[in-house]
Amino acid sequence: MIRDLPDSLLSVIYPQECRVCGGEVEALSDGIACRSCWAETKIFAGNETLCEKCGAFLFDGQSRYPAFCRKCDEQNFDAAVAVGLYEKALAASVLSLKKTPRLAGKIKELLARICDRITVDKTSSLIIPVPLSPRRLHDRGFNQATIIGKAISKQLRISVDETTLIRRVDTPMHRAGMDRKARGMTVKNAFNIVRPKLIEGCNVVLVDDVLTSGETVSSCAKILKKNGAARVDVITLARAA
Ligand SMILES: [Zn+2]
Ligand SMILES: [Zn+2]
Repeated sequence: MIRDLPDSLLSVIYPQECRVCGGEVEALSDGIACRSCWAETKIFAGNETLCEKCGAFLFDGQSRYPAFCRKCDEQNFDAAVAVGLYEKALAASVLSLKKTPRLAGKIKELLARICDRITVDKTSSLIIPVPLSPRRLHDRGFNQATIIGKAISKQLRISVDETTLIRRVDTPMHRAGMDRKARGMTVKNAFNIVRPKLIEGCNVVLVDDVLTSGETVSSCAKILKKNGAARVDVITLARAA
């Protein structure tokens, strides 16, 4: 019932503190950050140049030619898109999603906007959230990537598959100073496919909360393709700079 109340009324009854600046969140749909913190967050709007493959931010302004960062050449996915940079309101939203399994209206809208940047075939596409290890899933009670996957599923009208790709082992949290190779090693053998028939010939839309080095989604893409996926695109909420 509380969701039926207008935002302006709700913010009076139920004021929410901005997790970025401590100010007041004016609208429920903005989630956990205020309007000005959202305005200061780099949301990819099409007037910047991103790596055509991994979606890394390269520079402001549009490039006339397809641009590539080249650091992602070896990665196994086809293309990755994100709502914006992992900073300010978006970073706070990613952190909040690890505690509360709910997406603000604004985030759903932003996700909907990037959905048309990936290759989707209604008959052969499948959304697969990057799985957590059984232990972490048990501790958290939900997988934040699945929450994002379900929002995308509504938008794209393709289903979410949470059972085919599984995470076998608990990988240690990425430590500061760990280089790309070390991070790659920790996720190298972490994933497994249990029902390969379901992904044969499919375009997989792999979903996660944030893309950092890309090694995790690359490992997932590798095993998905080895088991017959035709294409693997990646959608994340945020992209580390
Ligand atoms: Zn704020
Ligand atoms: Zn790249």
